[in-house]
Amino acid sequence: MKKKKSITGIILVLLLCLMGFRGSALAAPLSELLPGAGAAGAVFGERDLSRLIAEARQKQEHKPAVQESAVQEEAASGEEVPAVEEPPQEETAAPSAEATKTEETAQEAAPVQESAPQPAKASGGGRIVCIDAGHQLRQNSAKEPNGPGSSEMKMKVTSGTRGVSSGVPEYQLTLDVALRLQSVLSGRGYTVVMCRTTNEVDISNAERATVANNAGAGAFIRIHADGASSASASGASTLAPSDSNPYCAGIAPQSQALARCVINGLCARTGAKNRGVTITDTMTGLNWSQVPVTIVEMGFMTNPAEDMAMQDPAYQQKLAEGMADGIDAFFGS
Ligand SMILES: [Zn+2]
Repeated sequence: MKKKKSITGIILVLLLCLMGFRGSALAAPLSELLPGAGAAGAVFGERDLSRLIAEARQKQEHKPAVQESAVQEEAASGEEVPAVEEPPQEETAAPSAEATKTEETAQEAAPVQESAPQPAKASGGGRIVCIDAGHQLRQNSAKEPNGPGSSEMKMKVTSGTRGVSSGVPEYQLTLDVALRLQSVLSGRGYTVVMCRTTNEVDISNAERATVANNAGAGAFIRIHADGASSASASGASTLAPSDSNPYCAGIAPQSQALARCVINGLCARTGAKNRGVTITDTMTGLNWSQVPVTIVEMGFMTNPAEDMAMQDPAYQQKLAEGMADGIDAFFGS
């Protein structure tokens, strides 16, 4: 700053000397430089000189201001740069890092915190459970063999029943509970494979069993709800193949054990009437299964009270947790 000022001062002094004593000499160049500077070089030269001096003073006066404004701009840009780039980076970086840490700690802490009060939470141990929410938006009346190599043909997917009071179709209820069971089992450390997660699918019963087979599931849970001609019919049950099933006798004992565990777990949680295990070899989805399988009939949608209970989110959660308890018991046995 001081050097610039002194240099500017020296230049001014030189200009004054030049213009003062040899103004006419500068008249020509000035007239070229400054529009309006005419032939009367001395006169215009003096005017031009005073203008130059005035401009030089203004420049000197404004320099700090310009510099300040430049500094301000720099400061502003400096603030903007950190504000726009660096701090946001830090902010985004720091929070994301913190978030990651939080997630990590949450993930790390979760098993510890949850395993303390509920040791069963880690019960899954990565075991694979396949969940099939029974039915779908539209039935598929095309037919498929009732079992591998069977000549008996059955509908690929039936329409299912419907809530007598709620009006909710079975396929929606089964999906709602299936998704809850998925969440519960995942939380307990199971690897969950879903046959479907939306209603807009077209997957036959045999194909659903194939999903479980291909997944190498340790348990295949097929979620359904019952219907009956009598509105008073109530309670929950599970289904499993017989020891003499022509297609899947090999998995019958394990499937029956799974069915027992699941119905007991479900009824213990919900307080539903326990109708026990039904042994059947007529179900396509059981006959095609190569892994332990059970159908869960959660309750009667034709019973007004049970229908409405099964639409209660809290009850649905109990159904899911009860089934998960049964799955825990099955693998623990
Ligand atoms: Zn059903």
